[in-house]
Amino acid sequence: MGTNNPPLSPEDVERFGPDPLTSFRTNLASVEERITLACARAGRDRASVRLLPITKTVPAHILRYAFDVGISTFGENKIQEAMTKCEALHDLAIDWSIVGHLQTNKAKYLTRFAREFHALDSLRLADLLNTRLEREDRFLDVYVQVNTSGEDSKFGLHPNALLPFVETLDQVPRLRPCGLMTLALFSSDMAKVRPCFILLRRLRDKAVKHNAALTGLSMGMTGDFEEAIEEGATVVRVGQAIFGKRPTPDGHYWPGFVPTDRGIEP
Ligand SMILES: *Cc1c(COP(=O)(O)O)cnc(C)c1O
Repeated sequence: MGTNNPPLSPEDVERFGPDPLTSFRTNLASVEERITLACARAGRDRASVRLLPITKTVPAHILRYAFDVGISTFGENKIQEAMTKCEALHDLAIDWSIVGHLQTNKAKYLTRFAREFHALDSLRLADLLNTRLEREDRFLDVYVQVNTSGEDSKFGLHPNALLPFVETLDQVPRLRPCGLMTLALFSSDMAKVRPCFILLRRLRDKAVKHNAALTGLSMGMTGDFEEAIEEGATVVRVGQAIFGKRPTPDGHYWPGFVPTDRGIEP
């Protein structure tokens, strides 16, 4: 039942329409259907893929509508934005997932409230998170980010650096390794995008021999989640297909991001 949704400003209506509840419900159903079809094409069980809704730039009061359509894990790229929303929505039972690069000096904020982190990319960060988690007697699910596109603008470990890094995960017992994560090349040419997903899957097949928990593949977004599922994704991170187009250029979230032919259209 409703969580007492606040009134909409003209800006809200312009971006999310007059009835965000219905819009989000419709969009979610359509994403669900596309996931189901992609699973069927790949001969996979629907239950093997988790949809992680990405809520960055969606204001906290609008996220109350998202909660009302049944979304209870919110993926955010920036730690400050996530913290602000977490405080504003503290009355709702929400799990917070941080999917973007984290500076080491912000580790202490993440461990206070996040359930999951998809962009682990250095031993120093792993150590800092582990120390903080010990202090707070908490655990954190983590995905190790790999740069599969070779673009300088992307964070993540070089594929060659992955296995040595995986070996060190034994030393950070408060982190629960779940798998690997990547941001594929930004292109509408799926012949260029798909190899990023295939590379991540192959790396996962190797990594899992060193750490049996690393079975997951967090890959695929609004523009490419069906291809990601066909290549084995176990978590797809989808924002715009559920919440509509973002007004903010994505360069704000991915330093060095250069819009390509694919743009950021849902
Ligand atoms: C924003 C973001 C997504 C979702 O992108 P959409 O185009 O909104 O689906 C996925 N992963 C990360 C790391 C993001 O920052």
